[in-house]
Amino acid sequence: MPYEYWCRQCEAVSPEQRDRRADAEDEVIEHRRAAHGGLAPAAGDGVRRVHDETRHGCSGSLLFIAFLVFAVLANCWGR
Ligand SMILES: [Zn+2]
Repeated sequence: MPYEYWCRQCEAVSPEQRDRRADAEDEVIEHRRAAHGGLAPAAGDGVRRVHDETRHGCSGSLLFIAFLVFAVLANCWGR
């Protein structure tokens, strides 16, 4: 499962997800240095695991289409 860094103060996340937690932690340090003068933002930041599906971003719309198909079929059977 990939990792990404997030910063609540900047509302920023990694531009790309990392397979290794250490790589995402490097990005936290790099972001603190670039955006916060090397300090941790008061609002919070860190590394979190992300689900693989978000990488492709299609599972949500697939579910929606499946729901639409189901709704249409249910409507037809109801008559
Ligand atoms: Zn930040």
